[in-house]
Amino acid sequence: MKTYKIAAIPGDGIGTEVIAAGVEALQALAKREGAFAFKVDHFDWGSAYYKKHGRMMPADGRDQIRHHDAILFGSAGAPDVPDHITLWGLRLAICQPFDQYANVRPTRVLPGITSPLRKVEAKELDWVIVRENSEGEYAGVGGRVHQGSPLEAATDVSVFTRAGVERIMRFAFHLAQSRPRKLLTVVTKSNAQRHAMVMWDEIATEISAEFKDVNWDKMLVDAMTMRMVMRPETIDTVVATNLHADILSDLAAALAGSLGIAPTANLNPEKVYPSMFEPIHGSAFDIMGKGIANPIGTFWSAVMMLEHLGEVSAAGRLMNAIERVTSDARFHTPDLGGKARTAEVTAAVIDAIHGANA
Ligand code: ATP
Repeated sequence: MKTYKIAAIPGDGIGTEVIAAGVEALQALAKREGAFAFKVDHFDWGSAYYKKHGRMMPADGRDQIRHHDAILFGSAGAPDVPDHITLWGLRLAICQPFDQYANVRPTRVLPGITSPLRKVEAKELDWVIVRENSEGEYAGVGGRVHQGSPLEAATDVSVFTRAGVERIMRFAFHLAQSRPRKLLTVVTKSNAQRHAMVMWDEIATEISAEFKDVNWDKMLVDAMTMRMVMRPETIDTVVATNLHADILSDLAAALAGSLGIAPTANLNPEKVYPSMFEPIHGSAFDIMGKGIANPIGTFWSAVMMLEHLGEVSAAGRLMNAIERVTSDARFHTPDLGGKARTAEVTAAVIDAIHGANA
């Protein structure tokens, strides 16, 4: 029997609660399927580790997870540790060296969930946002001089490479082609940013020639926010830069009902390195330890992990179980206006895994 080695990194805040729920659901699913097993190794990296050791993960941390089949990540962030340390010290310290250049964020209004968009029907909001995850605005290039003096200056330089843009465009066109509508929107800002974004547009046009059956259009990022709200049904697959997609996907998550539901995959599509799966939400310290974190974003991330591992029927069974549970308001956590607790939602999903004939 195939045993998948999973590295679980719960991280901070509600990350520990939702990852515990995710692992429980995955183990139940493996039992139900009977065709594969999970060996889950837990890593206590994050802000608590930082306060003890002065770093978010050990120096050889990546070597410890380099040969796992996938990484399940909770969140990184604590009120008393600067955000740039938690982000660069853990999440980006894994994403960038492992070349997880495609960040994929599906958004759908799941059964039983109400979108804050009035009258939007589930079938009108079914998107996948592809975020460039290795360069662009988050390349980490820049500097700060004369700190504290009136001459202080700081720069963050966006870096776009032809190779980086080509591969994310090809990935996005390919994904759009695999979806029924074969529709791609390339988000840009080439009116104001006249170097890298112009190259971005040119490369989109070049790559589109390889995908003649994909309908595609180009949209300025500011206009895209309006289109997401006013005409959600005109959108299917979206590709955007690291920064633009970061912002658009939070909007997308909110439009789908709650940040607690949205999943994401940081993919190394060539599978040279392990890919990483995580809910979109952060550590939500306001609700930490209360047992009310919504675990659905983590369950859906686990579905993406199963798809990446090639366990397509198990992925279908888990997604089916998630949708059964969201359609029942008794299992809505407070972020969805309900009273359910993390443990109740988890138990309901596990029941559905056993009962579902997906
Ligand atoms: P970070 O700085 O790590 O991104 P944050 O606390 O600023 O974290 P999020 O955790 O992303 O921001 O979410 C903002 C708010 O949304 C939280 O404070 C919380 O109230 C709510 N929220 C997010 N995720 C969940 C969840 N899984 N279940 C319930 N509520 C959630």
